[in-house]
Amino acid sequence: MHILIIGAGLGGLTLAQTLRKQGISYEVFERDEDENGRFQGWAIALHTIVEEFLSALPPDMPDLRESTNHLAPLDLRHQFAYYYGGREGCFGLEDSPDQPFIRAERSRLRKWLLTNIPVQWSKSLTDIEQDDEGVTVRFKDGSSARGDIVVGADGVHSPTRQHLLKRPSSDLLHVVPLMAIVGELDLTGDAFKRQLELGHCAYNLINPELGFIGFVGVHYVFPDGQGGRLYWMFMQPDTADIEITDATHWLQTSSAQEKLDHVRKTAAGLPPSLREVFELTPVEGVRKEPHIWRDLELESLPTGRVALLGDAAHAMTPSRGEGAFQAFIDAMKLSRMLAELRTEDKFKDINAVKAGVAEYHDEMLQRGTAAVRRSRSSYQDAKKRSETGEHFTSGMKRLAIEPVVLAATG
Ligand SMILES: Cc1cc2nc3c(=O)[nH]c(=O)nc-3n(C[C@H](O)[C@H](O)[C@H](O)COP(=O)(O)OP(=O)(O)OC[C@H]3O[C@@H](n4cnc5c(N)ncnc54)[C@H](O)[C@@H]3O)c2cc1C
Repeated sequence: MHILIIGAGLGGLTLAQTLRKQGISYEVFERDEDENGRFQGWAIALHTIVEEFLSALPPDMPDLRESTNHLAPLDLRHQFAYYYGGREGCFGLEDSPDQPFIRAERSRLRKWLLTNIPVQWSKSLTDIEQDDEGVTVRFKDGSSARGDIVVGADGVHSPTRQHLLKRPSSDLLHVVPLMAIVGELDLTGDAFKRQLELGHCAYNLINPELGFIGFVGVHYVFPDGQGGRLYWMFMQPDTADIEITDATHWLQTSSAQEKLDHVRKTAAGLPPSLREVFELTPVEGVRKEPHIWRDLELESLPTGRVALLGDAAHAMTPSRGEGAFQAFIDAMKLSRMLAELRTEDKFKDINAVKAGVAEYHDEMLQRGTAAVRRSRSSYQDAKKRSETGEHFTSGMKRLAIEPVVLAATG
């Protein structure tokens, strides 16, 4: 049995690793020229599935924490804080032996997932043809490959999905009415320490009473441990009559300075420590292009030799940090289904393939779509929780905020 994986993102590579562990033959095709071809994003959290995730991958993987730690070279416990409007103290998640919580720098995580995976770069999928004997994928450079099952792990604008549903992404993706302004800044010394003390990895500002929710995170720490790069996302429900994609929308027409002024004005009611990051951000650090969140709900998918995974099937806003998390679960479940198809050569029977893919898609779409809806309603959810004090996820506890010492280890 030979599996063709389209896309070497977090989901596609996780699937490749799970297949490698089980000795199932696979190839990975990626449109980018190499692993540095595109900005991979900032940092993501791995929690609740860490043990299951690690046990699904081969034993020759380097240590996950060490390889991906976005706080290295500082030796700080990973924690993620929530500041609820007007309340004292903060709650959040913290790494512990019973509840592992790992925040990974994304390009390091991607590099880690590439361990011993021979990706075929510069392979941009253009077409898929399937029949009762197998499936052929074709690429822009004129080459092709043949296998038994194709997995589209090719992200939010998935060409595999387009092939399956015969509908362009523009028909299927929904623009979420959430205005997001994004900023980045470098800090050193005491200013950097103060940010780490608010939550070592990141903190959320839950302030619907001021009309926004915000997220502030460390992207990475500088090699000398004396500073680091931070990023933030400032989000408000969009009440304009026009979509954010419209060229006349305020987010499209406003300058970086106007966006920064708007953020600072809206956050003016926060205590000084919580608004400092916005005050310190230089105008060049504010992204002028608007961040447009699109999500996707699919009711069903055709069954055959093509399966979808991750954002290709259930793109969602990043407000709950669930996109990659769901893609990891998809990859683990799909690899179990594929292992089952390999037993007694069931994959040679097209009806067994169809049944396996259908069962995988049913569970994946149900779970993924629930996450899409949760993420879409995150602002309303934050508003409710801010009023009731109810926590966002299980395992949240009061965090002890302690002084941070900027001393690099090793
Ligand atoms: C700002 C931001 C913050 C986020 N934060 C979090 C977080 O904290 N936690 C979390 O769990 N999730 C987070 N997410 C979501 C997460 O990034 C995605 O859900 C996750 O990357 C999906 O993985 P994927 O493998 O499905 O798709 P992707 O990672 O997008 O990978 C798709 C791959 O397919 C390739 N590809 C596309 N077209 C083709 C083609 N024609 N041929 C070949 N290859 C192709 C792409 O180049 C890409 O490498 C965030 C997203 C954003 C935008």
